[in-house]
Amino acid sequence: MLTSLDALLFAVAVLVLGKGLASRSSLWFAGRKEIRKGSLSTLAGYLLGSRKILKRPLQGSAHVFVFWGVVLPALIVLVSQFRPRLPETLSNLLSLFLDLLGLAMLCALVFMLVRRWTKSEEAGPKRTAVPALTLLGIVVTGFLAEGARLSILGAGFSWQSPVGSVFSSVLPASPLLMQVMIRLHFFAVLFLIASLPFTFLRHLVAGSLNVYYKSRNPHGQLRSLSLESNHPGAKRVNDFSWKQLLDAEACVSCGRCEENCPAAISGKPLSPRKVVRSIQEQMQAMNGTVTKPGLPLLNQRISDDDLWSCTTCMACVEHCPVFVAPLDKIMDMRRYRVMGEAALPAEAKATIRSLLLYKDVYGKGIAHRTDWAFNRGVPLLSEEVEVLLWVGCSGAFHPRYQETARAMVKILKAGGVRFGILGKEEICCGDPARRLGEESLFLEIAQENIRRIKERGFEKILTLCPHCFNTLKNEYPSLGGSFPVVHAAEYIADMIRLNKIALKYSLPAKMALHDPCYLGRGNRIYKPLREIAKAIPGVTLLELPRNRESGFCCGGGGGRMWLHEKLGMRMNLLRAEEVVKSGAEVLGTACPYCLTMLEDGIKNLETGKPAKVMDLVEIVASSIR
Ligand code: SF4
Ligand code: SF4
Repeated sequence: MLTSLDALLFAVAVLVLGKGLASRSSLWFAGRKEIRKGSLSTLAGYLLGSRKILKRPLQGSAHVFVFWGVVLPALIVLVSQFRPRLPETLSNLLSLFLDLLGLAMLCALVFMLVRRWTKSEEAGPKRTAVPALTLLGIVVTGFLAEGARLSILGAGFSWQSPVGSVFSSVLPASPLLMQVMIRLHFFAVLFLIASLPFTFLRHLVAGSLNVYYKSRNPHGQLRSLSLESNHPGAKRVNDFSWKQLLDAEACVSCGRCEENCPAAISGKPLSPRKVVRSIQEQMQAMNGTVTKPGLPLLNQRISDDDLWSCTTCMACVEHCPVFVAPLDKIMDMRRYRVMGEAALPAEAKATIRSLLLYKDVYGKGIAHRTDWAFNRGVPLLSEEVEVLLWVGCSGAFHPRYQETARAMVKILKAGGVRFGILGKEEICCGDPARRLGEESLFLEIAQENIRRIKERGFEKILTLCPHCFNTLKNEYPSLGGSFPVVHAAEYIADMIRLNKIALKYSLPAKMALHDPCYLGRGNRIYKPLREIAKAIPGVTLLELPRNRESGFCCGGGGGRMWLHEKLGMRMNLLRAEEVVKSGAEVLGTACPYCLTMLEDGIKNLETGKPAKVMDLVEIVASSIR
């Protein structure tokens, strides 16, 4: 039980904690308004499951032991103030549990400290030293106090306190020692509480809040931007929303984003961790002042090379253990450069010009939009059909991907599906404009498409390209265009499952799959690709080392398909090497960008037996020949 003085000291510590947290929160509340709904069940599921944290088993387990080693004893101490009566066996078991938890926490803290001190990450030891040593002090003094107590009792080994018993074997039966250890333990706890907002441990609060307010939208959905503000996008920290700043506050600098970022891996200057930390550091420099204009992040901390290296592959968002999204910050800064300062690479300007003038990304024009379907019996959508086939710019204009569009037509006909295309009424979905930072052009294109689609009768839209799929499915609804949209991989997997098509001709080959970012991480579509591959007679399915949520970007997303890759290594070559090393004879994918980039990458490899790159749609069509 606490004495009155203890209670007073405890109240002071809690007061300092509250004041510190209030002052810290002013840093992120300096951001713009954003409406977010919190979810307690998400937070509870995250804390209890720790799935993301445990993806790194050793570090993750250490983190889990320290977290529960702090939270559970704190709860038990709190409840014990009400003097609950517990049966003796239960009380002994609880004592055993706390003893073992303390041991696990001790080992975890030693592991963390050794790891931090031996790691090259410069901010690691400095930031974690005070909280880690305080926690270590709490655990050790706790065991010393327990050991001294057991020595005084002279009871020998106690199964309820095995670790305490070990300590008691080397400690004298000294009541003074026990009292000193209890006081030290208590003061260390008070120090931990009071210092929490000012040390690295504040991520306990910021991280939990970040999980509570986590976005429930698919990763592929980019935040809509209001074009009414003076300068759309972000140049300074106070141009970000409070949730984006909370993201930065929650970052623990673990580096998982950077380790999975294809731009960082391929030697480009971009590091998603650096982006988030730059925001955090400038937030701190702003000190919660909303009116102060703030230091420009752009130019001072984050360069154009950083911004344009991003392929919007979402690997950083996927792998962050506390749901920080570096990508939305990069995109907001890119938007500012493009719309606020008209600063974009020359090749991007050419793509934007094509979109503006011709409404397609290849600059070919509406007149040629249906050339791919000439004499192929592809119906134009005139009456109510089951499927509106969304061909996309690549299906319509890219000579290699036109084959995929024709293959899709063949599959639909084989399955007896009533379908149609918009033909010259279809224009680019707008994804390249949006990812290149030209939000106003995206809005114009998207609204035009929505108007045209609404005039037609169909049950669902079927897209070939994951970028069209993501845009139509996730980004049109906020503009008033909610349509049922499926990607070809999902649709074909369903056709196979329902026996609408029979795959007869075999492909006796080892096939690896490349998960397109906008299907996989963007929309969690992994299974249909594998179902299709397994259904093709003769195929032996291989998984590449980096697959599913860890799949490596082909380098073509985020508008990079139309930009030169001048910095570092080429991402498509890195992925192509991985494919060739796997021994795959065929690489199956489901995206025009991936197909083009990887075909190009494999052609440019000088070693290894090249794999044939094919869209799964083509593979299925050749199997129903
Ligand atoms: S953004 Fe997330 S993954 Fe990246 S360093 Fe911060 S906490 Fe780690
Ligand atoms: S979206 Fe991909 S390329 Fe861009 S920062 Fe994140 S991991 Fe790197």
